[in-house]
Amino acid sequence: MDKIERIKQLITEINKHNYNYYVLDNPTIADREYDAIYDELVRLEKETGVVLPDSPTKQVGDVVLEGFKKHTHLQKLYSLDKCNNFSELESWINGVNEAYGNQLYTMEYKFDGLQMTITYENGKFVSAATRGNGYVGEDVTNQVLTIKSVPLFINFKGKVVVQGEAMMKLSVLAEYNKTALEPLKNARNAAAGAIRNLDPRVTGSRNLSMFFYGVPYIEGKKFETHLELVEFLKSNGFPVFDYMEAKSDIASIEAEINKIDKIKQNLDILIDGVVIKVNNFKVRDKLGYTSKFPKWAVAYKFEAQELTTTLNNVVWQVGRTGKLTPIAEVDPIELAGATVKRATLNNFGDILRKDVKINSKVFVRRSNEVIPEILGVAEHTDNSFDIKKPTNCPCCGSEIVEDGANLFCPNYFGCAEQIDDRINHYASRNAMNIEGLSGKTIGLLRENLGVKTVADLYKISGSQLLALDKFKDKKSQNLVESIQNSKNPEFYRFIFALGINGVGERTAKDLAKQFGSLEKLMSATVSELTEVDEIGLITAENIYNFFHNDTQINLINELLDLGININYPENNQVTHSELTGKTIVITGDFEHFTRTQLTTELERYGAKVTSSVSKKTDLVVVGNNPGSKFNKAQELGVNVMFETELNKILL
Ligand SMILES: [Zn+2]
Repeated sequence: MDKIERIKQLITEINKHNYNYYVLDNPTIADREYDAIYDELVRLEKETGVVLPDSPTKQVGDVVLEGFKKHTHLQKLYSLDKCNNFSELESWINGVNEAYGNQLYTMEYKFDGLQMTITYENGKFVSAATRGNGYVGEDVTNQVLTIKSVPLFINFKGKVVVQGEAMMKLSVLAEYNKTALEPLKNARNAAAGAIRNLDPRVTGSRNLSMFFYGVPYIEGKKFETHLELVEFLKSNGFPVFDYMEAKSDIASIEAEINKIDKIKQNLDILIDGVVIKVNNFKVRDKLGYTSKFPKWAVAYKFEAQELTTTLNNVVWQVGRTGKLTPIAEVDPIELAGATVKRATLNNFGDILRKDVKINSKVFVRRSNEVIPEILGVAEHTDNSFDIKKPTNCPCCGSEIVEDGANLFCPNYFGCAEQIDDRINHYASRNAMNIEGLSGKTIGLLRENLGVKTVADLYKISGSQLLALDKFKDKKSQNLVESIQNSKNPEFYRFIFALGINGVGERTAKDLAKQFGSLEKLMSATVSELTEVDEIGLITAENIYNFFHNDTQINLINELLDLGININYPENNQVTHSELTGKTIVITGDFEHFTRTQLTTELERYGAKVTSSVSKKTDLVVVGNNPGSKFNKAQELGVNVMFETELNKILL
């Protein structure tokens, strides 16, 4: 075959694979095979000196630029008016509805990345630019060419400017930081820094993603609705983030915003709000613009999750595993509705890696259910100094043992903080749920009754408690009762209560499901443990080591001897009005369950799980990428339940 012909063939093939991989997220070829055809193309291009305009090798970006050229936007790019609470949102929606009748509103995530436009002519990528001041931006064509999900060619042949956001996925950021000499502080800065970098190789190395949501300029086409515009983007191969809702009433819009606010921490991208737009373009035209904003869209902003503050001091906390966790004390800041005074630094290795020092300005991030975390240094000051590595346990004075990035106090039976934290965790609501066992009480029991392990709790008698100060009749009786009442835990609660490093409640549930009994769990091999979803090698080894440690084995046996009687899930039928007795069909993929697990779980609720949707079906549960069963359910008017609602019942 002619070399040029082969080049053309390879280009078509590679561009198809790029589209499958980067846009659809559905690779249809092994990495190694891909590399082979890519290498062949590079070789042929070198041999022939021919690099065709649509060659994917042009997306590598290997020329360092001297400066950014200016790019004047064909159409002014407006920013969005913001609202920070529901009453502002309601007054906007009511205003629109009163003037033009009840409207349908589209809802999209408000990405926290770098806004950009890309121009196509005759179906070809021409240039890319940052938003800049809305009139003039910077030409970042070479940088954007390194973003593999951005199409070089589209079906539409007229001149068109598309608008989107360049972002670094959080998983990509974490991966990048694992080996980076200088870890990137956050995903937004990482994306903006990558695009606005004169060396496109740097842009390429950051593995950015881009998601599209607007068409500020188009020749030879008029959109009727925003939903149609989004379909246009998708059908031309532009990656569109897989979230879009269209709602007409305020209550559903607000419910949706609340839902997003709850799940936003679990997304792989940063978002800082929800964009709400009037769907109908005729109404948009009538609404028009202020000098700054379109009147047909608003951005509902969530409260900031990330801010900078000064780090004043670091104290070391000893946890239930003996691990020392550095806790940073910072100048108090208001973050996402709470005052943050302390934030974790994970371990000593983390301090070194992030180069965090006392008196430096640091980034603090707060997630919904997690303690605030120090992300990195914003800047050092003249007074900045290194955080000292402790040599002795701050609680019991034992000499510290180092294990990788972590420091440990080895004094298992004698270190008060460790003992208290273990008992506290064991007794906590989601573990054994022993009421009335506060941190203070635990300290009292340890000091006065010599309670050193969770097993010792079951040996406490009412008369022993009565002998203590502050323990009146009723209180002693209640505590002894709630300790004794904890003896029949569900299996997962017992696993969670043991406090194995890396085993949270979710993982405990997974382990309970997978192994079914304590005996099987204790004899599981590392490789059997890694078969459980979400359990990596490190956690698997932690679990294995825990169950092969004499201290732990003795403790578990002691607990069983003291009358702990684990309640296994198969003996544990439960009911729920929406599931019990219902005929249910499952479609799509679920984050927390395999199909089999979900079936078992639904059956535990007394549901009958069948495979096809008919009029007799009571409910279709819908995961990601649902199949035709979802459409069928809608056609037949069968009730559907989405994963988030389902999780509220099952998890
Ligand atoms: Zn200690």
